[in-house]
Amino acid sequence: MKNSFNSTVDLVLFGIQGSGKGTQAQRLCRELGYYLFEAGGELRRIAASGTELGETVKSYIDVGKLVPFAIIMQVVREAIVAQPPDQRILFDGIPRDEDQMRAFDAIMQDVGRAFRCIQILLDEAEAVQRILGRAAEQGRADDADEAIIRKRMDTFRSKTLPVIQAYKQRGKLAEVDGEGSMDEVYERIAHTVSMFT
Ligand code: AMP
Repeated sequence: MKNSFNSTVDLVLFGIQGSGKGTQAQRLCRELGYYLFEAGGELRRIAASGTELGETVKSYIDVGKLVPFAIIMQVVREAIVAQPPDQRILFDGIPRDEDQMRAFDAIMQDVGRAFRCIQILLDEAEAVQRILGRAAEQGRADDADEAIIRKRMDTFRSKTLPVIQAYKQRGKLAEVDGEGSMDEVYERIAHTVSMFT
C-alpha cells in the first residue's frame, strides 16, 4: 500500500488520550500509505532499551510528564530525515507543546515538507473510560492508573491545546468528531484528508 495515496502533504493528528488517535493513525498508514511516526511508541521503545537514556525517558513516561525537549526533538528529526521526500509521514504525538511546535515547524521547513493537521474531538469523560478499557487489553502501566491518565490529560489541555489553536488560527487544522465507532471516525478522517491538497 506504500505510496498508493497521492496526498502531497504530511499529516499531524491531534486528539486527547483515548480519542482513538493511535488506532486511527495506524489505519490511515495501512490504507493511505503514510509512514507512521508515533512519538509515544518511539519513546516507549527507548525507555525499554536498558540504556541510560532509556532510564531517563522512562522516568518521565511513568509519571505522565513530557520527555525533555532535546530528546524528543532529536528522535523526531532523525525519523523525518530518514524518509525519502516522496514518502508522506503521519505524525502522532508531536508537537505536544509550543516549544516543540516551533522546533517541529522549523525542521519541516528546513527539509521542505508541507503538512496539515486534524484534531479528533472527544469529551474527556468518555476518553477516560476508553483508556481504562485499553489498559486492560494492552497492559500499559501508564494507562491503568486514573491519576496518571488525568495528569496526561492536564498536560494535553495546558500544553497541547495551545498548539492546536495556533495551527487552527493559521488555517492548517481541520476538526473531526470522535464520537461513534472507529469505522465512522475513520471515514470522517479519510474524507477530510482527501480534501487536502
Ligand atoms: P502517548 O502514547 O502519546 O500517550 O505518550 C506516552 C508518554 O510518552 C507521554 O505521557 C510522555 O511521557 C511521552 N511523550 C509522548 N510524546 C511526547 C512528546 N511529543 N514530547 C514529550 N514526551 C512525549
